[in-house]
Amino acid sequence: MIPQTEAARQATPARAPWQQSLADVIREPAELFALLQLDRTPLPAAIAASGDFPLRVPREFAARMRPGDWNDPLLQQVLPLGRELEHQPGFSADPLEERDSNPVPGLIHKYRGRVLLIISGGCAVHCRYCFRRHFPYEDNNPGRGQWQAALDYIRSDASIREVIFSGGDPLVASDRHLAGLVEALADIPHVTTLRVHSRLPVVIPGRIDHDCLSWLTGTRLQPVMVVHSNHGNEIDADVTAALERLRKAGITTLNQTVLLAGINDTSEALTTLSERLFAAGCLPYYLHLLDRVAGAGHFEVTETHARQLAGSLLDRLPGYLVPKLVREVPSAGAKQPIPL
Ligand SMILES: *Cc1c(COP(=O)(O)O)cnc(C)c1O
Ligand code: SF4
Repeated sequence: MIPQTEAARQATPARAPWQQSLADVIREPAELFALLQLDRTPLPAAIAASGDFPLRVPREFAARMRPGDWNDPLLQQVLPLGRELEHQPGFSADPLEERDSNPVPGLIHKYRGRVLLIISGGCAVHCRYCFRRHFPYEDNNPGRGQWQAALDYIRSDASIREVIFSGGDPLVASDRHLAGLVEALADIPHVTTLRVHSRLPVVIPGRIDHDCLSWLTGTRLQPVMVVHSNHGNEIDADVTAALERLRKAGITTLNQTVLLAGINDTSEALTTLSERLFAAGCLPYYLHLLDRVAGAGHFEVTETHARQLAGSLLDRLPGYLVPKLVREVPSAGAKQPIPL
């Protein structure tokens, strides 16, 4: 017989450390300002700008920011600014027109052979440049146990080879939920590849734990993890260890970056990022031009400057450490490469 304390422990499993980190993210601009010893003058503007897309910063991530430095490249990604509220011509709420490729709730099918599953509307961190900041997640949150329509859709189309867990951030979902979905997908014969796009390995690296690795590698599906890091300062010892755990488990590990003005729009910043990723066993995949989402105009890098940067990376790095410079075009069936 199981002793009572053990039975109680099994009935209410303890929260994993990453779940604790997720519950404990910084949500108040005033707290972030205090933690980083920032001058409080812009605080009212930060509070106003965080109204419809609130501040969210994991403490592990904030710990990598330089106190007192407004220009810190990690802070700049998460800091709400008054400028977000200004009208920016050419920037819209749904720049990718994904509403047109949304055949069943929670599923986006735009590219041949691949579908995105919106596993979760939530994220651990709120990135101010995010193209999903206005996405109608309420309509796309099938929730636990309501994934049958998406699974039926995938089963009915034999051209679908790869299923991409996306969001929001899919890794804010529980391992139990994710493991169940992966099992169901592995039961669909034409699906061969399971891809996960997530920023959790970077912002809460403890997310890559034993339970996570076990559903990633526990079926016949070939796993690919695409992490999302924008700056070398994000890659500390804990992130390096998380990326190494992925690689040692046999998971192809790639990185995508958004090119962001004032954050990573120099040849030095992008070179260092590729080098640090490689040291952790992760290869660069895409360097995205910003999607023109309302509120993110101040992050835009001109296409001319982007081409120059991509050219200088080719001069400085081996080919396998140069990400592909791409942009997303709503009607196109793939990310569009930007010719140099
Ligand atoms: C980016 C994206 C994919 C994946 O594209 P890859 O070029 O294979 O990385 C698939 N579906 C949608 C809707 C996407 O936006
Ligand atoms: S979807 Fe990705 S880029 Fe957007 S807020 Fe979430 S983690 Fe950041």
